[in-house]
Amino acid sequence: MLLDNFRGAELKDPVMDYLLYSRLGPRVVRMRPLGAEDPSHRETRHEKHEAAHVVIVGGGLAGVSAAIEAVKAKATVTLIEKEKDLGGNSAKATSGINACGTRVQKSCGVSDDARWLERDTFVSAQGGTSDLGCVSMLASKSAEAIHWLIDELGIPLTELSQLGGHAKKRTHRCPPKADGTPVPVGYTIMQHARAAAQAIPGVEVKTSCTMKKLVENSLADGSKEVVGVEYLDGEGALHTLMCDAVILTTGGFGFDHSTGSLMQQYRPDLVGVPTTNGSFATGDGMRFGAEVGASLIDMDKVQLHPTALIDPKDPSAHTKYLGPEALRGSGGILLDQKGQRFVNELDLRSVVSNKILEHCDPLELPDGSKGRPWSWCVMNEESQEPFKGFF
Ligand SMILES: Cc1cc2nc3c(=O)[nH]c(=O)nc-3n(C[C@H](O)[C@H](O)[C@H](O)COP(=O)(O)OP(=O)(O)OC[C@H]3O[C@@H](n4cnc5c(N)ncnc54)[C@H](O)[C@@H]3O)c2cc1C
Repeated sequence: MLLDNFRGAELKDPVMDYLLYSRLGPRVVRMRPLGAEDPSHRETRHEKHEAAHVVIVGGGLAGVSAAIEAVKAKATVTLIEKEKDLGGNSAKATSGINACGTRVQKSCGVSDDARWLERDTFVSAQGGTSDLGCVSMLASKSAEAIHWLIDELGIPLTELSQLGGHAKKRTHRCPPKADGTPVPVGYTIMQHARAAAQAIPGVEVKTSCTMKKLVENSLADGSKEVVGVEYLDGEGALHTLMCDAVILTTGGFGFDHSTGSLMQQYRPDLVGVPTTNGSFATGDGMRFGAEVGASLIDMDKVQLHPTALIDPKDPSAHTKYLGPEALRGSGGILLDQKGQRFVNELDLRSVVSNKILEHCDPLELPDGSKGRPWSWCVMNEESQEPFKGFF
């Protein structure tokens, strides 16, 4: 209907033109495939370069992917991780990875492409501050990312579901085991990623090592460049590691609510709200990056996930186990304390979270005090099926 209004002079290419919903209203834009380098040109280019030493800080999926690709570009890599093992929040993901135009969707008969994912992303980012270039890159490269995980790391992301905010079935995860036991997607991805990073010659993995500072060098023109990192090893010894480039993949800051934390600085309203993040998520990359002059953007965009599980033995625990989007995606419904539905469970996370906070009663804590508003998530046997053994 809306497309029809734009037909004629404005809609010049019926294949490549599509409607973009932005805060300024719908408008026609042209889909442009992003440029890709010819593989043979890439090889020649790399042969002419001296091998670089790259330090990657943070061993979640972003860090391990960067390590694998840096080695392909002939670099040697040192991957520093502050926990005992690689994984980060990436290992906690349970709902799956969104992508459009994948082989998996094609084989399941799902017709989807970048214009749909872009539209859904703009609509989700209520407030309209999405960066057009980033959204376009996310959408048009998403299939490549899924294919990379399938082909490069051997992860069977062949199960599809349609979750909140999406117009199509595009959340990819692993199929259950032969006996029906569900396979946790993030954990599986990180098992494969960990094995790949540890097996590739050219990647040295240093776990239980925490970056403490970026090392700078002053140039003749007065500007500065980052030439390495300082890190503490598991025994508490401080080391300096010099390199040609540092990639910061230290994840978010959802766990840190302490005095002076990024949460207190950028989202003081969320201080004290329980989190599903691991204790490592303290925004180190952002803080150390800012110390050497990096600009930080969108720091207030902290998403409040609507559902996490309340442990009856410890109802006010700060760290909670996620009640993933997929619970609601597979049919779980949210009920208030009167047993009534009060929201569309597959609406945007921001909408569902706000509705719980506005509409539901506070939790009565064992000492008689009042906790935060909460709701029931009710699931029948069919909707529980994909999660048997998970909770
Ligand atoms: C419970 C939960 C469920 C989720 N489910 C989904 C989902 O289903 N689908 C989805 O798309 N997204 C999901 N997400 C979000 C997703 O997991 C993250 O966006 C993604 O994992 C971020 O990857 P990353 O590699 O950037 O960071 P991470 O995976 O968090 O890795 C960062 C790593 O850096 C390390 N680190 C931090 N500081 C330092 C330092 N100073 N020195 C050395 N190492 C350091 C950390 O220990 C950590 O291992 C979920 C998140 C959570 C918390």
